[in-house]
Amino acid sequence: MPIFEYKCADCGKVSEFLEKADSRADHPCPACGSKNLKKQFSTFSAVVKQSSAGSKCHTCPSGGNCPHSGL
Ligand SMILES: [Zn+2]
Repeated sequence: MPIFEYKCADCGKVSEFLEKADSRADHPCPACGSKNLKKQFSTFSAVVKQSSAGSKCHTCPSGGNCPHSGL
């Protein structure tokens, strides 16, 4: 069973819960009891963002702020 991270919208505490992939259980915050938790996709989304930002321009050696980067 995968572990998902949830961040409490009320107190900001991040907690981990074991959860089936297809379940959408409402976990209470262990710190304040709130059920206003947001599921975190920090690890996965960070990897995706890095891979897309890593596509550098092959014309300019620097690849950073080249005039082709927006194309
Ligand atoms: Zn909380």
